[in-house]
Amino acid sequence: MRENSRLHKRRNDPGFTRDGQASLSLGFTVSASTSANSRITRTKGRTGRHTARLDPRAPNLLPASDTPKITRASAPEIAELDAILAIVPDSPAKSLFGELPESERWQGLNARSKPRSGTVRTTVLANPRQTLAVLGYIGAEASTFERLALAGRMLKEASSRCPGSIGLIALGDDVAAQGGVDALLAAALASAFQMPAFRSHASEDATIRRLALLDAAKVDIPYATAAARGNNLVRWLTALPPNMLDAQGYHATIAKLAKAHKVGFEWLDEQSLRRAGANAFLAVSAANVRRDAGIAHLTYRPPGNKARSPDIALIGKGILFDTGGVNLKPHRSMLDMHIDMSGSAVALATLLALVELKAPLAVDAWLAITENQIGPNAYRPQEVVKAANGVTIQVIHTDAEGRMVLADTLALAGKTQPRFMMDFATLTGAAVYSLTERMSGVLTNRPKLAAKLVEAGRTSGERVWNFPFDADYDTDLESKIADVLQCSVDGKGDHILATRFLSRFVPDDIAWAHVDLSSATRNGGLAHINTDITGFGVRYALELILKHDILADVGRRK
Ligand SMILES: [Zn+2]
Repeated sequence: MRENSRLHKRRNDPGFTRDGQASLSLGFTVSASTSANSRITRTKGRTGRHTARLDPRAPNLLPASDTPKITRASAPEIAELDAILAIVPDSPAKSLFGELPESERWQGLNARSKPRSGTVRTTVLANPRQTLAVLGYIGAEASTFERLALAGRMLKEASSRCPGSIGLIALGDDVAAQGGVDALLAAALASAFQMPAFRSHASEDATIRRLALLDAAKVDIPYATAAARGNNLVRWLTALPPNMLDAQGYHATIAKLAKAHKVGFEWLDEQSLRRAGANAFLAVSAANVRRDAGIAHLTYRPPGNKARSPDIALIGKGILFDTGGVNLKPHRSMLDMHIDMSGSAVALATLLALVELKAPLAVDAWLAITENQIGPNAYRPQEVVKAANGVTIQVIHTDAEGRMVLADTLALAGKTQPRFMMDFATLTGAAVYSLTERMSGVLTNRPKLAAKLVEAGRTSGERVWNFPFDADYDTDLESKIADVLQCSVDGKGDHILATRFLSRFVPDDIAWAHVDLSSATRNGGLAHINTDITGFGVRYALELILKHDILADVGRRK
């Protein structure tokens, strides 16, 4: 919003700082069929809400490829692969290279000049296969982000040769070796994934079919695979064109994923949302041509856990295309607005990864799915709408639609009394101005959680930065006619004000973190991800939930 002023240029819109070129040009070959003909029939579910039943003719919007095979291999076997990627310390002992096939070749590469942390060098081995050798150096103090970025550059080097099989090796002390091979595996699994492409002549490029680890014992392969699948799914869904991932197509795709993972699924359509009083969501969806918007609700309960209230509720913004509404976005800002659903994909993919890992937690996901369109039924500035928890909102700018749909989605999720709520949304340009696309913003209604929220970003390599959540900011959202302003008229600190606004829809007794996904897209990719759509969020959320046990800090349910 506020497109007439550079500083106030607000987003729901990571694209607005970019030069707007198409971002899906990195060698994708898989095709997906259009969902224009997708059909979903609705039947009354047990709860009385409407549940989707898939029409078998519904098009497949899911990725065709799965992750490559991951195997253990000895050094001589690795020498038979198309490429070997090896990470070593930035001042490596000569003896280290003894573990690599044709070690004198690697030593020669090392002897070229003094390397620095982050340096990448390549050569070709003298074997009949002419195995590509990629050597990467990492400093002892390097962060996870730096290791991932190095691994991403090494995969980029290798990908020019289209290797079908790659050996992954990290040498050095145990900690360095594990960190290195984790990063290489994450980068390789991302690189192997085929993003959507719709060329009439599919490219013939070979894909990575096999990854061989010299020391597989160092890696938690199920965890790495689940995190990578989650990241890949987010990138895939986010990249799909808006005429394919429309509300019907997304609805059908989520239903299919829920069924495959055996998790509960219900779809709250506009009718049920009207009954629930979710008028903030409905204000945004009003301009849609079809009445197919809704909130998807997925429930995962591990075996033996029949809890009604989840431990964790994951909430995501799923704006399938954001025109800005009647406060229409200009060309450059609107161009990439099919990515405005990536928060919902992060919530969805995180839940599925937790299922895959059999996490002993009860988890729900709530995905707010609609377009933000223009037209005679579109909501307008100065409307007053009442959300599902009774809070009335004075609308200021129709491009601040993300917080409108999230308001009701948070309120509905809050009614199930989760111990911890976490939402993901490409919400504000202010977060991008503050951080660029390298990190995402995180805000929380529990100051004592802030340190752990940031730490999980550091250790996962998907970095987040904490912004204030002080109550005095609320004076900027005081309305003369309603309970709260949707946003302030000038755009200062919009990422903070948006969070203060959203907090009105989160019950006070529930711990909550809001992730403003400023790093959902970045030109040239981010860390180990070499596509502009980064899939940022799943790796972070899994780290926070499983490795940092955020629930331990949230406390017991009263
Ligand atoms: Zn918007």
